[in-house]
Amino acid sequence: MSPGTHGSFTIGSVSAEPGTTAFGTLRVPARQGDPGAEIPISILNGHAPGPVLALTAGVHGMEYVPILTLQRLRRSIDPRTLRGTIVMVHVANTPSFLGRTIYYSPVDGQNLNRVFPGRTDGTLSERIAHAITEHVIARATHVVDLHGGDGNESLRPYAYWITTGTPDVVDASRALALAFGLDRIVVDHERPTDPQASMYLSNTAITRGKPAITTEAGCLGGVDAADIAIVERGVAGVLRHLGMQDDGPPPVANPVWLTRNEVLRAGATGLFYASVRRGEMVAAGARLGVVTGYDGSELQTVAAPFAGEVLYVVETPPINRGEPVAMVSAPDAGR
Ligand SMILES: [Zn+2]
Repeated sequence: MSPGTHGSFTIGSVSAEPGTTAFGTLRVPARQGDPGAEIPISILNGHAPGPVLALTAGVHGMEYVPILTLQRLRRSIDPRTLRGTIVMVHVANTPSFLGRTIYYSPVDGQNLNRVFPGRTDGTLSERIAHAITEHVIARATHVVDLHGGDGNESLRPYAYWITTGTPDVVDASRALALAFGLDRIVVDHERPTDPQASMYLSNTAITRGKPAITTEAGCLGGVDAADIAIVERGVAGVLRHLGMQDDGPPPVANPVWLTRNEVLRAGATGLFYASVRRGEMVAAGARLGVVTGYDGSELQTVAAPFAGEVLYVVETPPINRGEPVAMVSAPDAGR
């Protein structure tokens, strides 16, 4: 983009002139009995041209830290000194946020972060995904999807680096992960490569040739100021890295690259009792927790498959068969 071409930036009914910030909603119309959704977005249009960075929060509605962070950043980032444009999706999954649900939409029971790129004639989650794909990801040059531990998950901060894109996108995504500054980076080799079945928001960007990362900070329905500061710092690092702002923290110097990762799942429905804490180092075979029946009888002991670090662990009692109970990661490739 040359300087002469930098003008207003418009998504749906929301339009920001250069050097200004605009707020509005992206409307997902009602369909076949469901109410549709109004997705709140901000456009911070810089005074000069540059990258278009999409920052998305609330794909999971009980991950509050990223949502609160975007509210703060919206006020603290001055578009008069910004180069390029920031598109903020304040709460991608408003049904889940307002309904206070983990993982799944209260409207259709789907996980929004498994139905990308979405479709226009589908469920509400699929239509929200489609709106974000078409109106946000399609307009962006870079995407950071901000998550945290869900309402049931205790989590230590980390980022996902997806390695299944084209080499230039993989390299640029790696640089984004470093710029965000978290000291644990999960190396994810297993995301789909088909743009029509991208499943995840950040992978929707990657399968369309745009660098992207997913970040995780905050957990258990919390609104901790220290976690908000971690996300604020991360975004500031990305803005500096992309040349959108002059100031910002440097990239993380020596992150732990976690190449061996396993999500442990419940083999039964009932109650989950965690035996470990987030960030704890565990030995191979160590007990991570126990699934019990309603009478307290032990149904399953969940053990660490290898020595590593507990990135997250479920810390509230309800558990359904097949759901994650913990994630263990290690730097050792080993397989
Ligand atoms: Zn999430």
